[in-house]
Amino acid sequence: MYKISLDDVSKTFPDGTKAVKNISLNIKPGEFLVLVGPSGCGKTTLLRMIAGLDHPTEGTIKIGEVDATSMASKDRDLGLVFQNYALFPHMNAFENMAFGLKARRVPKDKIKQKVLPIATRLGLEKLLKRKPNELSGGQRQRVALGRLLARNPSIHLLDEPLSNLDANLRTSMRYQLSELHQEFQRTTLFVTHDQVEAMTLGQRICVMNEGEIMQIGTPSEIYNQPAHRFVAEFFGTPSINVLEGEISDIAGEYCFEHDEQKIIFSSSKTIPEGPVLLGLRPECLHVQIEKSADSWEANLKRIENMGDIRVLHFQIHDQKFTLKSIRNDFITGQSYYIKPEWKEAHWFDSIIGIRISG
Ligand code: ATP
Repeated sequence: MYKISLDDVSKTFPDGTKAVKNISLNIKPGEFLVLVGPSGCGKTTLLRMIAGLDHPTEGTIKIGEVDATSMASKDRDLGLVFQNYALFPHMNAFENMAFGLKARRVPKDKIKQKVLPIATRLGLEKLLKRKPNELSGGQRQRVALGRLLARNPSIHLLDEPLSNLDANLRTSMRYQLSELHQEFQRTTLFVTHDQVEAMTLGQRICVMNEGEIMQIGTPSEIYNQPAHRFVAEFFGTPSINVLEGEISDIAGEYCFEHDEQKIIFSSSKTIPEGPVLLGLRPECLHVQIEKSADSWEANLKRIENMGDIRVLHFQIHDQKFTLKSIRNDFITGQSYYIKPEWKEAHWFDSIIGIRISG
């Protein structure tokens, strides 16, 4: 399998838009890397440059050991799936899936042997005779995936390939994609703006914002050690709680002052004194009836019943707080004490947002 190496790659469009800024990235041979970030952050532009559909204005792209920066797309042994399918309207689903193999003069019986099992795994076996305009959006998206998987080139590039599927189908397609990747170990770049897709599919995740990489890491690293406030807020439902405040050291313990409320806690981490941002995930906060030095008094504004858990919305002055709990005995309008699990707290620089401790 090939590795893909990007060295200081930038893309500025003729109108001056800097879509990708000085990105260096290595996708390991056979790795499933997910590129994730909000709309407009440069994911598709980066994927298109790796695909050879667009070229960097600066930097180099290598596929294996070969400099592919200005190599034509057709010479890169890669396959693409886009959100908008790009199927041939005059061909039926089977012919669309067989297209890449036919173009490479693979014998007819071999084509069948490759296409039919993939069609079955994607739940398309009964739809093979239908033309794209006789298929739903989700079915077309699966045909486009099938076309890539039937040919199975060394590099798979997928841009939001599951975006038109309903929730159940998405889950089962994610499962199929993971299984197929385990089986074939193709070097894969998967673009999405969906945090769940990123966490569940990626062996590693590359988080982008405004044309830059914010963090690259395994799903656990990204969730448990976010390198930046942006990464912490991008992953997790409900989103992490972020409080502005000030840290001071009082006789070996820390004091965190937020909105004139001071709480005292101990931590094995070294937290610099001064203004900070404190990040607390909803599952790392607990509700207690008794006041303690390291808890906030907060009013319960709203309860959302998610079936297995309750999402509790608290308010302390202007600050909103979200917690997750399995308990079902809370009463809206009542005051409680909220106590963080301090070892799970994230600390970020108050201005630039980078992680500053632990
Ligand atoms: P989405 O998730 O919405 O598809 P994305 O992260 O894939 O977004 P890109 O499509 O890579 O983002 O776009 C990155 C930036 O470059 C955006 O600001 C976009 O408007 C801009 N852009 C993309 N193509 C061009 C172009 N041909 N000319 C000028 N600007 C462009």
